[in-house]
Amino acid sequence: MSWEVVIGMEVHVQPKTRSKMFCGCAIGELGDAPNTHVCEVCLGLPGVLPVPNKAAVEACLKTALALNCEIPQHTKFDRKNYMYPDLPKGYQISQYDLPMSINGSLEVGGRNVRIRRVHLEEDTGKLVHAGDKLHKAWESYVDLNRAGVPLMEIVTEPDIRSADEARDYAMELRTLLRSIGASEADMEKGQMRAEPNISIRREGSDELGVKTELKNINSFRALHRAILYEVDRQQKLLETGGTVVQETRGWSEAEQRTFSQRSKEFAEDYRYFPEPDIPPLELDRAWIEQIRSALPEMPSVRRERLVGLHGLPASDVAVIGADRELAELFEAAVATGAPARQVANWIVGEVAPTGKLPSAANLGELVKLVAGGDITRDQGREVLAESVETGRTPAEIVAEHGFKQVSDESELRVLAQAVIDANPKAAADYRGGKKQAMQALMQDLRKRAPHSNPKLASELLLKLLG
Ligand SMILES: [Zn+2]
Repeated sequence: MSWEVVIGMEVHVQPKTRSKMFCGCAIGELGDAPNTHVCEVCLGLPGVLPVPNKAAVEACLKTALALNCEIPQHTKFDRKNYMYPDLPKGYQISQYDLPMSINGSLEVGGRNVRIRRVHLEEDTGKLVHAGDKLHKAWESYVDLNRAGVPLMEIVTEPDIRSADEARDYAMELRTLLRSIGASEADMEKGQMRAEPNISIRREGSDELGVKTELKNINSFRALHRAILYEVDRQQKLLETGGTVVQETRGWSEAEQRTFSQRSKEFAEDYRYFPEPDIPPLELDRAWIEQIRSALPEMPSVRRERLVGLHGLPASDVAVIGADRELAELFEAAVATGAPARQVANWIVGEVAPTGKLPSAANLGELVKLVAGGDITRDQGREVLAESVETGRTPAEIVAEHGFKQVSDESELRVLAQAVIDANPKAAADYRGGKKQAMQALMQDLRKRAPHSNPKLASELLLKLLG
């Protein structure tokens, strides 16, 4: 009998805000001097009052609506109590039984992943350990710059069935968050962290197996590998008569394995109770509808149009459909009359890798120049780079450099004859049936005239040889 993999995901995402969740401290940047973005509130000093950040609430509602969630009328914050040196208050303000949203869904590769809830909470600080292992003179420092930074927690039902699907879910979620402008969701900057919980069960069983939770995974690659490792570990355990222990595990990038961190806490361990310093929020229905109606097009709808209306291949859709700016550039360039497939080809091959966007008008013009045979693709690349740099139009740049593709038939015919005369052996080989001799002839032709129209030149060579 084979095993079925069951995965649920918790993803923590930092919404795009200028200040922290409950105080006016700036978010700051990775690498800022420690403890430079702190105040009485996020340091947890006695007598202070936290005030929820409206921009964070709005980003959370936006995300929830984009994930098709229901927004309850009432929501509140709760205290999650635990002691850890990076948590100055001795509790984290989170949401327990009345989260900001429930019951959503996200389509991933044609399958529906149910979203249990999206709620708001605050991040903790960071411990930095330093010292001398030999003399056991360890010192620990705490940096509270991140204490109180807003986080959205997005929780799925256990609907994911493989490591591939878990990675696809996380990627689709990132695309969505960026599209709606709720978060940059940059995993390298710690703005998005994934925590999959994983169990396995015999195929056909309805019961859930004992799960383990992997903490703080910060790349798609690590997420994929960690799940594969964990599934394999659990399978070997169960097949040799062992049992899986419910626990929290970490992922070691260096050793490419998961390791036990601590046995899983249960909700009662946290002694949740309503945050007494923040009144429950009454979410104004008109405000919610305003946020809903201002949502941009969802990436899945955009992808459908790229395939259906423009007939793009899946590989191009994967790149263009995942990035709102690229998608808008594509559609605007096509609207100038440039051929869609070739615009997509230029965006995927030349624009996306550089990350520097030309204007839609300039890209459209460039694609038309290349597609119409006025300049070669190599010249087009140069023109694109210069156009992005200077903002000048491709036509101006082409005129200034004197770029053109030689498509004049009589000119090319003379050239082709000269190539045949200069390469009698290759010409004879070709006529004798060695078709690959054509390559040598074309190579010489391109050397003599790099800007010749390759299609027309090879046609003329064939004609003269035949
Ligand atoms: Zn503060």
